[in-house]
Amino acid sequence: APAPPALEVHDLVSAYGAVRAVDGVSLTVPAGSITAVLGANGAGKTTLLRTVSGAKAAQSGRVLADGVELTRLPADRVVRHGVAHVPEGGGVITQLTVEENLRLGGLWRADRADRVRAREEMYQLFPVLAERRRQPAGALSGGERQMLAIGRALMARPRVLLLDEPSLGLAPMVTRRLLRLLRELRDGTGLTVVLVEQNARGALSVADHGFVLSLGRVAASGDADRLLADDRTRHAYLGF
Ligand code: ATP
Repeated sequence: APAPPALEVHDLVSAYGAVRAVDGVSLTVPAGSITAVLGANGAGKTTLLRTVSGAKAAQSGRVLADGVELTRLPADRVVRHGVAHVPEGGGVITQLTVEENLRLGGLWRADRADRVRAREEMYQLFPVLAERRRQPAGALSGGERQMLAIGRALMARPRVLLLDEPSLGLAPMVTRRLLRLLRELRDGTGLTVVLVEQNARGALSVADHGFVLSLGRVAASGDADRLLADDRTRHAYLGF
């Protein structure tokens, strides 16, 4: 049998009271791909990621990673199943140092040597974090803070990385560097990335596939090249 997809979402519903922010979303994310989730403000992108990661409970529907059912598992269990979430803004703790933030990402690992090894890998991947390891995360630039947030998530050695608007507030050049890094991670380690972005053009330029959400539903999906070339979808939902 073929390998199951890295991530599968079936008919997911996630609501705030009567507001169904995610209203029956299904999507499939192949292993080792970058999948962009796009759409206007309020389309449900953040809610989708938070529900997949276990930060928010689903009303109905299913979430599977590598064929393993994650539906209704709390966030700490979802991470153990190889799905790590970088929330909007990164969620680094500004009062803690860079190193302390990285340590938080590896805390649940039983093996100390393994934790240290993972940290050294992160310093190799992000040399700027090594230079600033003793500084409070609050002293980092926006781009460095996103790198730290991604590094902290990678400390869990996830197979799937869920990234919520990593380019928010970053200069275009820093955004390009960040998007390139995601490609390198995909190509180098086979990491699967789900990239939520308002910057649809940038996201589709690195993504393999894309899903466009509108009012909590999938309005369009397909190969990134195809979405980029689809004037109707671009004008209706992506604003470029
Ligand atoms: P953004 O880019 O602004 O984060 P989004 O596509 O990520 O947009 P969501 O943040 O998931 O969209 O919001 C989807 C819908 O859910 C919106 O109508 C929003 O107003 C509503 N919503 C989001 N968070 C809450 C909350 N904590 N309580 C009530 N409604 C919420």
